[in-house]
Order: sequence, then C-alpha cells, then structure tokens
Amino acid sequence: MNGEYNMARIAFIGLGNMGSGMAANLVKAGHEVHAFDLSPDAVAQAVGQGAVASASAPDAVAGSDAVVTMLPAGKHVRGVYEGQIFDAAAPGTLFLDCSTIDVDSARHVGGLAVEKGFRFVDAPVSGGVAAAQGGSLTFMVGGSEGDFAAAEPILDAMGKAVIRAGDVGAGQAAKICNNMLLAITMIGTCEAFALAEKLGLDQQNFFDISSKASGQSWSMTAYCPVPGPIPTTPANHGYQPGFATAMMLKDLKLAQDAAQSAGATTPLGAQAEALYAMFDNLGGGSADFSGIYKLLDGSWGAR
Ligand code: NAD
Repeated sequence: MNGEYNMARIAFIGLGNMGSGMAANLVKAGHEVHAFDLSPDAVAQAVGQGAVASASAPDAVAGSDAVVTMLPAGKHVRGVYEGQIFDAAAPGTLFLDCSTIDVDSARHVGGLAVEKGFRFVDAPVSGGVAAAQGGSLTFMVGGSEGDFAAAEPILDAMGKAVIRAGDVGAGQAAKICNNMLLAITMIGTCEAFALAEKLGLDQQNFFDISSKASGQSWSMTAYCPVPGPIPTTPANHGYQPGFATAMMLKDLKLAQDAAQSAGATTPLGAQAEALYAMFDNLGGGSADFSGIYKLLDGSWGAR
C-alpha cells in the first residue's frame, strides 16, 4: 500500500450512473473530491454527496493530486485527455481512467500522460451501479508497478478487489476478455435452460443438477437467467438491469475490434456479439443482458 494518496484532493470527471457512487465513496474515505460533469444535475448530485463543484474539467484538475475519469467511451476519454486536462495538471499528477474503452485509446492517452511526466493507470471495473454505490467494484489495472502502487489506495476506497493486469492498456484487455467470456457463458446457460424446458424438465430441478455438475458457471449460480432459482437476479424482476444489453454489446464490439487487431480467433465472441446485436435491434437494449433468455426461448416478441 502506498500512503501518498490518503486524504488526497481528487478531481472526478464523469458522474453518471457509475461515477456518482464512486465519487461518493471517495468522499466517504476522506478525500476532497472536485467534481465535474457536462450535466449540471450530475454535479449537483455529487455536491449533495459531499463533493466540491467544478466549472470545467481543467478547473477540477488544477490543484488536484489525482484525477479519476469515468466516461462513456474511448472518444470521450480521448477528448478530455487530449483537449483539456494536462495543461491544468501539476507535475506528477496521477491519472486513473476507470471507463471501459478500447485498448488503443487507453494506450494512447496513457502514453500522452507518461510522455508529459504524469502517472497513469487504466482501471476499468467489473460490477454495476450497485457495486459502484456499495464500494464493491473489482478493478483491473494497467500501468507500471509504481503507478499501480500509487493508484491502489484510491481504488481500494471504491472497490473490493484491485488487481494489476500488466502495463498500460492491460486493464482494458482483461476487462473485455472477461466480458466476452461472460457473454458466452450467459448465452450458453440461456440455451441450456430453454432446451431443458422444451425437453420437459423443471427449471428449478435443472438448476439443482447443473449448478452442481460440470455446466456450472457464474452465469448460472450467481446470475441465473430464469426466474426462480436465485430470487435476487434480474430474471425475477422483469429483466431490469443489472447490466444492460447495450453495455454488454459495447464490450463485445470492443472485444471483436481487439481480436481483429491482435489477429486472435474468437468465433464464439463474434457469435455472442451478433446475438446481442439482434436482441438490441429487437428492443432489448435497455433490458438486462440475461434477458437474452427470452430471445432464445422464443418468448421475447410475445411480450
Ligand atoms: P453514464 O453515461 O451514466 O455516465 C457517463 C457520464 O459522463 C455522464 O454523466 C456524462 O454527462 C459524462 N460525460 C460525458 N462526456 C463528458 C465530458 N467530456 N466531460 C465531463 N463529463 C462527461 O455511464 P456509466 O454507466 O456511468 O458508465 C461509465 C463507464 O463505466 C462506461 O465506460 C461503461 O462502459 C463503464 N461501466 C458501466 C457499468 C454499468 O453497469 N453502468 C459497469 C461497468 C463499467
């Protein structure tokens, strides 16, 4: 653990669904959080949670020890990093980008930061809005060992696990590989339940068997896509997210782009992207990603 960033002044840029809870947890940990978002309502909400309002990204960054960005996609991160914040930052400032973005953009902005003498980690998260609010995110971190050690205490205040994956960009690589695997196991689990039902099996009974047999996975035992076996899952609440299909589709596109540029063969990842794109086109974008069960059992159109 590095004590350098205990009780630090931290700029937080991007206070949306995820950033809002994360910024609040930094405040709770004793940091002085200077908050900026393009949405004045989002800034006002952060102020309500103990942050200080900033009028612009450079305003938040000026005088801060560290800068956390939690933005929608690579173009937003590139825009903020290329355009606005480096000129305002003090030498040695630590930048942590927690957004989920493409590996190339992470390496690009990280490279710019390091070139200018700053510290940088890409630190995308696993876990949704509830985990962001509860401080129980998992961070997958790319950066030098020194920058990782500096970032760890800040990330600890927002998460339950902080794991270094390698150098700059490696956090994003780990994130998209993990989510590609998640999509594939979710679709496989949905297919198995849909087939089990057509073969006359009781779904609870199939869950009891498969969750203790070799078909077991996180998608089955923690996030079961059919109503019943696990009462807390989105399947029991009309497939309200949770983790929205549109977000999963974004991550699958990033995975396919990365696979193409790295020359990797990912046929199931490609198929998962196609199926989630179909579900999105049929109106499933804002449903939880486990709602693809309804597409696979043929009942989605019947809603
Ligand atoms: P969001 O759209 O709710 O929030 C993004 C915020 O960034 C918005 O408030 C927007 O106004 C702000 N913003 C955009 N451009 C800006 C700029 N130039 N300057 C300042 N603010 C700007 O998105 P979210 O759900 O909070 O997700 C953020 C990131 O986290 C995404 O990359 C997403 O893929 C990733 N993620 C989300 C989840 C989830 O469940 N929501 C889970 C894991 C990872």
